[in-house]
Amino acid sequence: MRQQDCIFCKIAAKEVPAKIIYEDEHVVAFPDINPAAPVHVLVVPKRHIPHLCETCADDIPLLGHIMTVIPKVAAELGLAEDGFRTVVNTKDNGGQTVYHIHWHILGGRFMSWPPG
Ligand code: C5P
Repeated sequence: MRQQDCIFCKIAAKEVPAKIIYEDEHVVAFPDINPAAPVHVLVVPKRHIPHLCETCADDIPLLGHIMTVIPKVAAELGLAEDGFRTVVNTKDNGGQTVYHIHWHILGGRFMSWPPG
């Protein structure tokens, strides 16, 4: 279900413009408006789930699907050979700012560890 005033619900519903680079029945992917790497894309389920702590057994097929979409999108972005980082920030200490679950795909440069 979509949530009123959720920016990612609005992007998924095409009510707010974004350059959708991948879409299927369950997810959309679009470039992050504030890129943290040469390539920075967000993979966002159309269903509104606030964060990882609010997933449930019903979400298992969706979550599995997203794990297959990520490498497909990364390959289309030319990241398959050198690799990339996938990040899911969860709640305040995780650095989450948009409370609609999403996967960051970051690539095009070497990623250091640990993150800040
Ligand atoms: O993991 P976190 O919740 O912090 O990530 C949210 C991301 O969504 C940010 O990187 C931000 O730049 C991005 N964003 C976006 N388009 C918006 C609002 C936020 O790409 N309209």
